[in-house]
Amino acid sequence: MNVCRLLFRSAVPATLAMAFSGAAVGLTLEDYTNPSPACFNRATQPHLTVADTHIHFRPFGGESVSYHDMLKLMADNGVVFGGVMGIGQRLPWDARPGCDSYQDCRDLPANPTIKNDFVNAANFAEFKSPGRQLVFSMTFPDLARPAEIPALIALYDKEYPGLFKLMGEANVVKQALFPNGHVPVTTAQIDQWADFMKILRERNIPLALHSDLGNDTGEPTKYRLLLEHVLRTYPDNKIIWLHLGMSSQQVAMDPLNHILLLQGMLDRFPNLYLDISWGVLEQNYFSKYRQGYVDFINRNSSRIITGSDYVAYKNKQPAYNYADELKTSSAMNAYLNNDAFRNIALGQTYLTLLGMNATYNAPQICPSR
Ligand SMILES: [Zn+2]
Repeated sequence: MNVCRLLFRSAVPATLAMAFSGAAVGLTLEDYTNPSPACFNRATQPHLTVADTHIHFRPFGGESVSYHDMLKLMADNGVVFGGVMGIGQRLPWDARPGCDSYQDCRDLPANPTIKNDFVNAANFAEFKSPGRQLVFSMTFPDLARPAEIPALIALYDKEYPGLFKLMGEANVVKQALFPNGHVPVTTAQIDQWADFMKILRERNIPLALHSDLGNDTGEPTKYRLLLEHVLRTYPDNKIIWLHLGMSSQQVAMDPLNHILLLQGMLDRFPNLYLDISWGVLEQNYFSKYRQGYVDFINRNSSRIITGSDYVAYKNKQPAYNYADELKTSSAMNAYLNNDAFRNIALGQTYLTLLGMNATYNAPQICPSR
């Protein structure tokens, strides 16, 4: 426990504690590996997410924020756990300058590839992640070409045995990518996932899926059946539905209908988990129907995880800022009850989902006076 945190726990104002010690604010891995009698005091400590379970250490194209800088951004913002997700798609290697995001170059494909996963793995093998616990995810799957997935898992096993504990973010349907050639996965293709889903089940590896629910042009649940088909066909696989199914193409769904749909899915599919990462949820849904979503999240917090959904663009304009993304995606944390805060912001649900809770557990929340 460092000086800064001792001061925090004796309720010295944050600015004073920081000025005194100069150390980073917040929890450390030690607080998770060695639970002490000290508890997490929500009255004096930040509500920012400590377990950023959805963070892209690499961009679609262009120059990446360096691995070292990513670790520094996490540390500077008090993030202890990182779910490192590719990103799974890359623009062509010889794309013209300025193609940082697929949105910058709509004439180019942004196809699934192993490239970013291997860069992330190589960086971790070389530099490790002092003070941070990273979970590496296989983000390469092209879910429309399931036959190739087991062989690529074998390649990962050969090069980095035991490193990858998660699969995804992989796209079932991502409307934002349609102009770059992405098309939704079909139910017939989902039926062909059996071989790789068996591998995931045997290893207790969750699959994180980007699967848009629908859109604002009269089709609010157009793609619902795709995710349901996955859940019905593979009921014993742990599935994480990313962003609550929302996207920039769907910013105006009726929130009550959204919540009822989500609750129905959780009730019907016990191995389904939800991810509330990405600022679009705060901007378009949480901030507009706060209490409804708070009640929903509090009720289901043992099946919900969160994260920034930051993408490591070095040069993207307007500037893409980790602190801002973390702040926006963490706004909801402040409204959650103590159980939900510990489960989601401090990461207990994530640690349990990934079987890491034999080693790491979130600190308890101090009782409020
Ligand atoms: Zn993402």
